[in-house]
Amino acid sequence: MNAFEALGLNEQLVQSVTELGFETPTEIQTKAIPVLLSGTTDFIGLAQTGTGKTAAFGLPLLQLIDGTQRHPQALIVCPTRELCLQITNDIENFKKHNRNIYTEAVYGGASIMMQIRNLKRGVHIVVATPGRLIDLIERKAIDLQKVKYVVLDEADEMLNMGFRDDIDFVLKNTINRESTWLFSATMPPEVRAISKNYMETPKEVTVGKKNSGNANIDHQFFVVGAPHRYEALKRLIDFNPGMYGIIFTRTKADAQEISERLAKSGYEIEALHGDLSQQQRDKVMGRFRSKNLQLLIATDVAARGIDVDGITHVINFELPDDMEVYTHRSGRTGRAGKTGVCLSICHSREIYKIRSLERMINSQFHKVDVPSGKDVCRKQFFHFMDKLMQADVSHGDYETYMPDLMEKFANVSKEEVLQRVAALEFSHFLKYYENADDLNTRDRNDRRTERSGDMNGSRKERTNFNRGNSGYTRLFVNLGTKDGFYKASFLQFILDESNLNKEVLGKIDMREMNSWIEIDQAAAGKMIKAIDGKRYNNRTVRMNEADGGFKRPSDEGRGGEGRKRIYASKEKRSFR
Ligand code: AMP
Repeated sequence: MNAFEALGLNEQLVQSVTELGFETPTEIQTKAIPVLLSGTTDFIGLAQTGTGKTAAFGLPLLQLIDGTQRHPQALIVCPTRELCLQITNDIENFKKHNRNIYTEAVYGGASIMMQIRNLKRGVHIVVATPGRLIDLIERKAIDLQKVKYVVLDEADEMLNMGFRDDIDFVLKNTINRESTWLFSATMPPEVRAISKNYMETPKEVTVGKKNSGNANIDHQFFVVGAPHRYEALKRLIDFNPGMYGIIFTRTKADAQEISERLAKSGYEIEALHGDLSQQQRDKVMGRFRSKNLQLLIATDVAARGIDVDGITHVINFELPDDMEVYTHRSGRTGRAGKTGVCLSICHSREIYKIRSLERMINSQFHKVDVPSGKDVCRKQFFHFMDKLMQADVSHGDYETYMPDLMEKFANVSKEEVLQRVAALEFSHFLKYYENADDLNTRDRNDRRTERSGDMNGSRKERTNFNRGNSGYTRLFVNLGTKDGFYKASFLQFILDESNLNKEVLGKIDMREMNSWIEIDQAAAGKMIKAIDGKRYNNRTVRMNEADGGFKRPSDEGRGGEGRKRIYASKEKRSFR
């Protein structure tokens, strides 16, 4: 018997989850589904996001709903629009073979009229954020009289966000409910109060330990002086080339600034913060979800409800003040049985916080050194070489070129080819890390190490600045591989157009939409004049100096180039 069937789920639902690739129920599903299928038991599930809790309540709900009665029978309330859409999407997937059940997501920031129209058509399950739900109740656009099942998902988050009165209101307005199911990662007194006031002898199930971090997460911390936080972050990213991660900052300003600095250095990163419009936010989230964006940097408030699969790393740029926030942050990784890593950059004065976190999540943190420049280069290098070895050569007519290639390389050893590939891919990157400082604050001489770190930092900046004036300048141009160029044809194009010769050029970094060109300062003006404003592919070509607006051109430029070299040679989304 299929393990989901054994929990009491019907054939259609079993078929759906099988098609979704679920083979065995997760712990929360095993513990919750049989209880919830009774339909009359109040339930508290202490489970983090990523444990499979949506299916734990979604599947029993779908089985309990009477498809012939077209009015709201189940109400799922959750803190954010993202989560609301996520739950609705999951339920749509689960009900693939129960076509007569209709679901509607109601949340703020979208047209209320449209939602009212859809509700009027008759739906069985409403997934809602509290604010919009109250609005609909007050407009008498939703009838909760016949709601039998109320699910409060991420109850602790809803209370953190100040929805306490709204939850009270909803529970008071669903007087005919037969059961209330509450899911929460943590159990602060406010959540306990809801269960006391509105639930009857609930069955309580905890997945893992109460308030505990997910056992699949490796918690690591790095001790660095405050001036080195940013550089440490960069190293951690570079040391984990396959990272698909979320970086948390305490403030919006930090999120914005770090994202700008990293993006200018060529990292695929965007910031998520309260100043974005809903549309911008959706766009960022869409890119992140589809893995077109490697890194997301967010404040806790902005990241609420973000539920993305496959996050490999969570990075705390700073430790949060509120320890429970740590559980929420780290819970974005290590989901659905996968492993994840939560990296925290902290100051030596914050080590006490690590100790109390260890007690809170009942799990040990590992102190790890910020990798040295050499470690980073080695890691990147082998990552690239692994990719080289894994490249799919089964498609494409490589055979045709092999005889010529073999002839060309007849007298070149394998060692030399590897060295050349390395030079091509890594020269800037290696240079960036050539004299990289040790960023770790060593236990015994914290103060001294930090001071010497500062000195090194400023010394490095001066050196970099000189390098920035070494004769090359960088140009940005809005042409890339999407325009049908590859490096040689692009080179040909810019040289032909500007009537310059190849010697004036340095490195060229091509991306899909844009490219960056290193060019002799003396020739830059001529190239811009020749190319900026030209028409290509029915578009106006824009070319300008790339580094003009940088706050710290030297620092960013150097790191950026190293990074860009790597990305330029990567396929899109190659961080996976
Ligand atoms: P959730 O905690 O509901 O956000 O679920 C986290 C992820 O786990 C989602 O992508 C689900 O599709 C996936 N998932 C849920 N249940 C299972 C299962 N039994 N087996 C494999 N994946 C699952």
